[in-house]
Amino acid sequence: MSDERRSELAANLERVRGRITAAAEAAGRDPAELTLVVVTKTYPASDVALLAELGVTDVGENRHPEAGRKRDEAAEAGARLRWHFVGGLQTNKANAVTRYADAVHSVDRLRLVTALESGAAAAGRRIDAYVQVNLEGRDDEPAGRAGAAPADVRSVADAIASAEHLRLAGVMTVAPLDADPDDAFARLSEVAAEVRAEHPGAVAISAGMSGDLEQAVAHGATHVRIGRSVLGERPALG
Ligand SMILES: *Cc1c(COP(=O)(O)O)cnc(C)c1O
Repeated sequence: MSDERRSELAANLERVRGRITAAAEAAGRDPAELTLVVVTKTYPASDVALLAELGVTDVGENRHPEAGRKRDEAAEAGARLRWHFVGGLQTNKANAVTRYADAVHSVDRLRLVTALESGAAAAGRRIDAYVQVNLEGRDDEPAGRAGAAPADVRSVADAIASAEHLRLAGVMTVAPLDADPDDAFARLSEVAAEVRAEHPGAVAISAGMSGDLEQAVAHGATHVRIGRSVLGERPALG
């Protein structure tokens, strides 16, 4: 059972790594600049442990407390990984997430920055934080889905940069469902450049999922977040 799952994950990983390398080469980029974050949400900690054996170094989760529980189980199984929290985060859960997340990709408002900073300070940790950018609407419209409106990115980035226990890693987006991902990733790359102009160390661009990693890499993604193409289709959420 576990052997079968291991070979399935190994084959899927090889395909995804091949796609990343091909996309990087097509864009004239060094594939070594890219980090594969395997999003393991809904899949068991046993899969996380297998992925670690197969050379995966970074995993992503989108829900608390599932993420924390799996981190503990995977650590008990001996897996050493960097944990990325990529999902929407309620302010009152930020404290708990800072105990196990190495990076949070979904920072989209000032109150969340404050909550993450106090959690990280209490835990005695320093956490990578990405400003999540909402590219659904126009700049002058309030952001509907998760993410800061492009016009608000700067204030969130500045707040992260001045928080002692957070490190401003860069920006993140989820491409809108009903739009061309190329447009979204091109826009994200402009927002990323604006952030870097103020904060030269904030070089990370977290973009690209199973369906659009090629477009994201073409527009400068440094971290791709891949779930289904590695683990398989998730059962529909109830
Ligand atoms: C689930 C998820 C992913 C991975 O998506 P796939 O389509 O399964 O590759 C990436 N980013 C976020 C924020 C997610 O919630």
